[in-house]
Amino acid sequence: MVEIKFLGGCRQIGGSAVEIQSSDGKSVLCDFGIYMEKKHPKFPKTPSAKDLKYVVLSHCHADHSCGLPLLYGGRATPETIMTPVTKDLTALLIDDTLRISKDLLPFEREEMRRFLKNTRMLNYDHEISHKNTKLTLLDAGHIPGSACILLEIDGKRILYTGDMNQTKTQLVMENFINNSHDLPPIDYLLIESTYALETHPPREETEKDFINEVKNVLENDGIVLCPAFGVARSQEILLVLNKYGINSNITIDGMARKSSRIIRDHPESVRDYDLFLSSLQKSKLISFNRRKREERMQALNRPGVIIAPSGMLKGGIVVLYLEHLYDDENAGIFVVSYQIEDSPGRILLDTGHFNSRSLEKNLKVEGRIRQFNFSSHSDRPLLMEFINSLDFTDDAKIFCMHGEENSCNEFAAFIEEEYKIQAFSPKVGDAFT
Ligand SMILES: [Zn+2]
Ligand SMILES: [Zn+2]
Repeated sequence: MVEIKFLGGCRQIGGSAVEIQSSDGKSVLCDFGIYMEKKHPKFPKTPSAKDLKYVVLSHCHADHSCGLPLLYGGRATPETIMTPVTKDLTALLIDDTLRISKDLLPFEREEMRRFLKNTRMLNYDHEISHKNTKLTLLDAGHIPGSACILLEIDGKRILYTGDMNQTKTQLVMENFINNSHDLPPIDYLLIESTYALETHPPREETEKDFINEVKNVLENDGIVLCPAFGVARSQEILLVLNKYGINSNITIDGMARKSSRIIRDHPESVRDYDLFLSSLQKSKLISFNRRKREERMQALNRPGVIIAPSGMLKGGIVVLYLEHLYDDENAGIFVVSYQIEDSPGRILLDTGHFNSRSLEKNLKVEGRIRQFNFSSHSDRPLLMEFINSLDFTDDAKIFCMHGEENSCNEFAAFIEEEYKIQAFSPKVGDAFT
């Protein structure tokens, strides 16, 4: 008998955590993330670490990974499994969270060290097994190192998608479904629902639209500022620019340069390593030493593209660049990441203003402001294609999570109707036996 406990990441994005318990009382935990939108860090209910057989991390993003150190506060030290690049990127992201909100977090550097010490790296498509449990990571196509988690526990097959994407991007391959994987029939599918109600514009169209806008700014001797998530989105933008021949005067700053170095050390984690390497070599990664001030000023004094986190302008080095560029009519502020409601990035898009804490002023941004959809999640047609490509057992069930409430609810209702498979939009705290 298997029990699936939904600890977090239900009817919202943030705090992803699912515990799957087998008949021997031992559990596998998939992800343990932080809730993103809260002013004070919030985490899912912590399961008892001594009952955990395995902890599996789908990918490094904070909404999936940042709670993991919490499991290492006591004596028990469960083994956490993830891909090699996910380990290094997760260390970077948790370290960053500790730096920014140290006093607010319920764990410290010591727990993070214990967590990393008990991490076992596993490449895609390799199975590990122990007694009644088998586990495989499959390429999720979302960001470098991202994995869908395939489990077999007490004879039941469970597929936890984490975040995934079937669109081939410049940075990573599409997810495993398109690479002729034949999976045995699935009993329980736990699927992300981020864009379950939406259809993305064709990727190529977005790229061309973006490139045209960038070219317009550069031709007027302007500077393009791209606030982008530090991991993956920054690198994706770099590769898109290179694909269309824009490769001089590109500056990468903030966490994006650290994550670029990590990804560079994991050739297996990107789609085209040579392309990634040459794009990186042609761009300027701001130094970590005292030269950085000078290098930033150089970037601000010539036409070019600056890629810098944070993607929603909540903080990070991008704010410094914006405070220099806000009154420049020739500049382009091109937002390339998702903007949650009330984020400074959302407000900038809606009002053209940016509230600068350091200058204590509400700045009117004079340059061109636009948003581009470079999503790294499958949209509705792709989620359907994913479900279509799987085999299910006769009494299979599908659980829709990692999406806003109406996305999860409506997607579950749609699945029941369309596929005649029982589907649920679980709430936090729900358990299914
Ligand atoms: Zn993600
Ligand atoms: Zn996520």
